[in-house]
Amino acid sequence: MSLDGIPTKVALRRRNINVGDCKCVLCEDAEETVDHLFTVCRVTDDVWSGIARWCNLPPIFLFSVHDVQLIVSQLGCSDKRKEIIYGILVLTCWRIWKARNEKAFAKTNVKIIDIISDVKSLGFLWYRSRGKRLEIF
Ligand SMILES: [Zn+2]
Repeated sequence: MSLDGIPTKVALRRRNINVGDCKCVLCEDAEETVDHLFTVCRVTDDVWSGIARWCNLPPIFLFSVHDVQLIVSQLGCSDKRKEIIYGILVLTCWRIWKARNEKAFAKTNVKIIDIISDVKSLGFLWYRSRGKRLEIF
């Protein structure tokens, strides 16, 4: 999954599209870029911490959205577990993006615990739908 194509406000502004305020929708502290949204945003950072605890991983520190793949490749575990962890991390990115859009367009307040809870429940559904191909945990 490539996240380079996600049109954040900053990316749209670079294309001379008037998007108004370019602050991050989730934290309202910094300019919203792909790397900010998925890595250094204080809201996202709390989500990654919760996911790391749930998956029994060391703390997740991302400097670029591409680090998701790097983290998985550096795990000292089986390929099956790596595939599951990668799926969970991609799912986390998707849920962060969904939370961002819910706040931006529906003005819904985003709770970190709800994002983590959704990743857990959707992760189990995804795992079950994969059948016996990924038998670990
Ligand atoms: Zn932010």
